[in-house]
Amino acid sequence: MQNLNEKYQSVLEQREKVLKEIQDMQQQEIIKKYLELQKQKDNLEDEYNQLYKEVKMEEYKSCQHILVTDTVAGSGFNYQQYFGCIKCGLTSKVLDFPREKLNSLQLQAMYDYLYKNHFINNTFYDLRRLTGIETNIDCDIDLAQAIYTRIKNAHPTIDDVTAIKYFEIALNDIRNIKVNNERKINRARRLSLNDNFNRWDNRRI
Ligand SMILES: [Zn+2]
Repeated sequence: MQNLNEKYQSVLEQREKVLKEIQDMQQQEIIKKYLELQKQKDNLEDEYNQLYKEVKMEEYKSCQHILVTDTVAGSGFNYQQYFGCIKCGLTSKVLDFPREKLNSLQLQAMYDYLYKNHFINNTFYDLRRLTGIETNIDCDIDLAQAIYTRIKNAHPTIDDVTAIKYFEIALNDIRNIKVNNERKINRARRLSLNDNFNRWDNRRI
């Protein structure tokens, strides 16, 4: 017990000493300046986050979407079908998560956009309410966006109908030309996907 009391007393004193030192330091001009900058940074961060989401939501609203489906196999014969845009990346996948589980600003903006516009069910009824072109392509949405981005980089002024044609050619090449694992990893890297990306072909479900 005595030991414990001594330890308690010692920690109490150290703590007070440190708190006092912090208080003294906070009186220094340079520290005041530092604290003020931290506060400004936090405020700007909040403002930035808010504006980023608004910009993204505006992008989703004004995009003439090119829509694909993304069929994901579940257990047994179950599967889940999502929709997504290969241009802006908007995907109904986000609706599968509670909002607080979405850890990126972009995914939160997607969720807010879909939710705000009452796309609360992941159905094709919702899909048809988005403006743009609905294709019959079924493809992982990350892969689809990666392919589209490459086409758009190579042909900045390409129209949507031609872009879809190029997209289908690129996707068919990826699916039909057999490559070994190493080349698949290189291909994933070229498309800025994860090394372990393996959803090249949604048809094999
Ligand atoms: Zn879009």
